[in-house]
Amino acid sequence: MPPKKQFETVAIRTQTPTSSEREHSTPLYMTSSYVFESAEQARALFASEIEGNVYSRYSNPTADEFIEKMCRLEGAEMGVATASGMAAVFSTFAALLNQGDHIIASRSLFGSSHQILSQILPRWGITYTYADTLNTSQWEDLVQPNTKMLFLETPSNPGLDLVDLAWAGRFAKNHHLIFAVDNCFATPYLQKPIEFGADIVQHSATKFIDGQGRAIGGVIVGKKEYLQDIYFFARHSGPALSPFNAWLFSKSLETLPVRMERHCDNAEAIADFLGNQKKVNFVKYPFHKSHPQRELAKKQMKRGGGIVCFEIDGGFEQAKNFIDKVQMLSRSANLGDTRTIVTHPASTTHAKLTDAERLAVGITPGLIRIAAGLEHIDDIIADIEQALR
Ligand SMILES: *Cc1c(COP(=O)(O)O)cnc(C)c1O
Repeated sequence: MPPKKQFETVAIRTQTPTSSEREHSTPLYMTSSYVFESAEQARALFASEIEGNVYSRYSNPTADEFIEKMCRLEGAEMGVATASGMAAVFSTFAALLNQGDHIIASRSLFGSSHQILSQILPRWGITYTYADTLNTSQWEDLVQPNTKMLFLETPSNPGLDLVDLAWAGRFAKNHHLIFAVDNCFATPYLQKPIEFGADIVQHSATKFIDGQGRAIGGVIVGKKEYLQDIYFFARHSGPALSPFNAWLFSKSLETLPVRMERHCDNAEAIADFLGNQKKVNFVKYPFHKSHPQRELAKKQMKRGGGIVCFEIDGGFEQAKNFIDKVQMLSRSANLGDTRTIVTHPASTTHAKLTDAERLAVGITPGLIRIAAGLEHIDDIIADIEQALR
């Protein structure tokens, strides 16, 4: 057997076989359907007696390369690519849960994941309970006879609290729960939930996987026993990823390790800078010396990631003032871009929550999220410094 290759190499050298043109970079298979060599081949393909492409809602070579790469990078058996990160989250629920099932989820979730749990799934009789991520000892009390899934995000957005993945993996196993992790913030370069017992990992490829703010997409990878059902659901309900976006993502994965290193370098430097500012009440970053879960972060993450949060002195007004005063940094709600982005969660991404719900997940009125980009750190800090001033 050839030696197991390193992450960087796998990200670059996982390729679908080249065509007769001998191209070096994987071509984009922009096709909706495929030609059958004979009526008999068509019959056998539809009967699943042989493997092969039929229609791009089912499979596409460009999407398959992206899926294969993500499986190898996360250490998963099988994957499904989706049109968005939310399609990945929703397809997981829709494929694996039945009427009457119950989900335990970490309280601090991406906004649309919260909407799916609270507004959409209840219409089909699927209920949920939020678990406090910092208080895992209380989770035993949340398990019901019908609890079927544990769904987590770590680090959380934007609070940057962590869940102990090894602990959660044991908890899920003890209670026979399907364990799913939205690993969008960390990417497989920084954190591999499957190594800690996760059955399923979801991503918004829109963020660090694309890394350049160009395209929407998602992917689900994990154990075959679950991914087969998710594939069945996706094949027939149709959240397929566009081949063009799959091509962008597969190309982008080639540079994921170098980009993540720079995202982390810049985020660390921003956290260190903010930690020393008089107008900053606190800074939150998983590897920063002030983070209460720093030891856990080092246990389950390679580095702290590209997102930093801080609380500006003066609350809501000063936070909005800061956002208005940045000159180079982008006022946007995205993250994982080459461009550094500043966001005020309380008035934008998390505005739909009540004050109490926001405080429960660490979103104070003065909290600002910075998604470190890849610009030179001196220019990023200079802009933050002048905006604070
Ligand atoms: C952005 C995001 C999503 C949703 O992904 P889309 O590609 O926008 O649908 C889900 N989870 C997390 C943690 C995200 O940051």
